[in-house]
Amino acid sequence: MLANLPVTDIKGIGEKIAGELNDMGIQTVEDFLFHFPFRYDVHEIKPITEIEHQEKATLVGKVVSEPSLSFFGRKKSRLTVTLEVDHIAVKAVFFNQAFAKKHLQRGELVTVIGKWDQHRLQITVSQFQKGTIKKKDTHQPIYSLKGGISLGFFRKSMKQALNSFGTQIEEILPENYLTDYKIPARSKALQQMHFPENGILLKHAKRRFIYEELLLFQLKMQWLRKQKREATMGNAMNMDVTKINAFMDQLPFELTNAQKNVIKELLNDLKNPYQMNRLLQGDVGSGKTVVAAIGLYAAITAGKQGALMVPTEILAEQHFESLQELFGDKAEIVLLTGSVKGKKRKERLHKVKEQDADIVVGTHALIQDDVFFNDLGFVIVDEQHRFGVEQRRVLRDKGLQPDVLFMTATPIPRTLAITTFGDMDVSVIDEMPKGRKPVKTYWAKENMLDRVLNFVHKEIKQGHQAYVICPLVEESDKLDIQNAVDIHQQLQEFFPQDVRVGLMHGRLHTTEKDEVMKQFAQNELQILVSTTVVEVGVNVPNATMMLIYDAERFGLSQLHQLRGRVGRGDAQSYCILLADPKGETGKERMRIMTETNDGFELSEHDLKLRGPGDFFGKKQSGLPEFKVADLVQDYRALETARKDAVDMIESGRFFNDPSYKKLKIAIENDPIFNGQVLD
Ligand code: ADP
Ligand code: MG
Repeated sequence: MLANLPVTDIKGIGEKIAGELNDMGIQTVEDFLFHFPFRYDVHEIKPITEIEHQEKATLVGKVVSEPSLSFFGRKKSRLTVTLEVDHIAVKAVFFNQAFAKKHLQRGELVTVIGKWDQHRLQITVSQFQKGTIKKKDTHQPIYSLKGGISLGFFRKSMKQALNSFGTQIEEILPENYLTDYKIPARSKALQQMHFPENGILLKHAKRRFIYEELLLFQLKMQWLRKQKREATMGNAMNMDVTKINAFMDQLPFELTNAQKNVIKELLNDLKNPYQMNRLLQGDVGSGKTVVAAIGLYAAITAGKQGALMVPTEILAEQHFESLQELFGDKAEIVLLTGSVKGKKRKERLHKVKEQDADIVVGTHALIQDDVFFNDLGFVIVDEQHRFGVEQRRVLRDKGLQPDVLFMTATPIPRTLAITTFGDMDVSVIDEMPKGRKPVKTYWAKENMLDRVLNFVHKEIKQGHQAYVICPLVEESDKLDIQNAVDIHQQLQEFFPQDVRVGLMHGRLHTTEKDEVMKQFAQNELQILVSTTVVEVGVNVPNATMMLIYDAERFGLSQLHQLRGRVGRGDAQSYCILLADPKGETGKERMRIMTETNDGFELSEHDLKLRGPGDFFGKKQSGLPEFKVADLVQDYRALETARKDAVDMIESGRFFNDPSYKKLKIAIENDPIFNGQVLD
């Protein structure tokens, strides 16, 4: 097998080169063959009239003048020559390529590649060769290489490798997928990746490897999901459907269809014998809490306990209150946060242990060592991205295997959801409750600040409140806190005495933060100047104004998240983005914000503008790295691959049908597939 042959089996590759290849992660012949070019230089020869100004162009022409060479500065040179291209005289300019002079003899044909200047009919040459470019060289593969390995040597060795081992490259996809999708065979596609005959064949080759890569990835995810499910069999809840229905009927509002669908999915999971592992996405205000509450209630009717974990104390308190209101005497709920201490804590812990408490709401204090549940059946984790993997594991390791639902208000583009949460089931609430007034969003330049502040004042005079957000670029950066302090000061000076302005930032102690938040919630503060710490979940329906300084410094999803703090009551709410973005992208982002209130639409834009790596913020993205596939561009292939993978696994063909054997082996041999990667 090619995966067992060392690279030194390729003719011309010795120990020294093998060492350098090793640094590039290439050890075997297979690794070598699958080291794909990261791009292709396209040398399409177009008629001069079709080449755009400043475009990189390839021209073939006849030398019709003596080349003239001049030197300037130290060691710098400029070589010019006139070429006749399509009966037009074109000037070719070579910088620091004096050696080219001897190749440019009158009457000779040459190919030059470089930047085209339409106005001067001139090309600044970066590459040239004698004669006409060969047709098959129109797509030149460029590899990322390390150490002393040259592109020329690498290509020569690739030719060698393909000649010697090309026939041993086995197809891994079942044949019907090749025919259905018109995908070229693996060995042929590989040949085209390295030595493309033309653009079309290259495109099909890429298409094949994109699909293959995504399919393998999705198969891993689906297989893992299946394993997880089977490992957690015996988790079925025996719920009281009549009670659940009665509970839903007495809600003060009609559930949206999206909510009803998600509830169905949840109840199904609870009822099924495997452990629930589901992600619920819903824009801010879409009504996730009530869905969570119904799920918790269902668990109670089955005689189980439920837990709701949230990232901050203030959120825990808010959820505690809204659940109490919803449940009345139907459930005993306790609040368990870090600030519940001493005797009170002991009492509550006792209740949890004896199952006198049906539901526990809290921060991560809820999973600390001293907390024991009697029969924990269902855990909901709100604002999932704030919770570390570690905390999730602790919960699981407490001996129980409760069903787990993760909720997030950060809309994650579908492609990312599929890849990062591929082993989870995903539910989406994609519909807002009726009668919601969308937040009106405006973009203002910073020189309009006075007008903006007067507008804020007008809202406050009507009894409403405002958030003012200052960016925190790098966490715990002194300057940013200073920024918040300054803006706080300025606003105190701008507004009359009776408008009380509070300040909140990351350096405050948790209890101080909670205190400020409480004052704002009770309208003791009319304005809250804050860094982005208010981002998550807080509910102050009387706040109708969100003013964001330096808005261009935030991502679209984050801006949307911040905007979600307002528009929670009956009154019309506003979001004002103060920004002077320099570039077009920045302006585009501000425009998009003013045009849509749809979090999913924004997240798709965000993904396009920032790329997948940046989407979840640095490092913590956990996104797999793909060799050929691009999550933004190849989302259709991703959807297809996912559908196919689910089908292969669920139907059992993947495990039983001999034509899937090679595919299965390919996955089993993949070092990242050990069940731990996705924990
Ligand atoms: P989020 O998804 O941001 O957590 P919430 O669950 O806090 O949203 O819901 C926001 C508000 O909408 C709450 O006051 C809640 O009572 C209300 N709500 C939820 N579902 C509906 C509905 N179907 N019709 C009307 N109001 C609803
Ligand atoms: Mg919520």
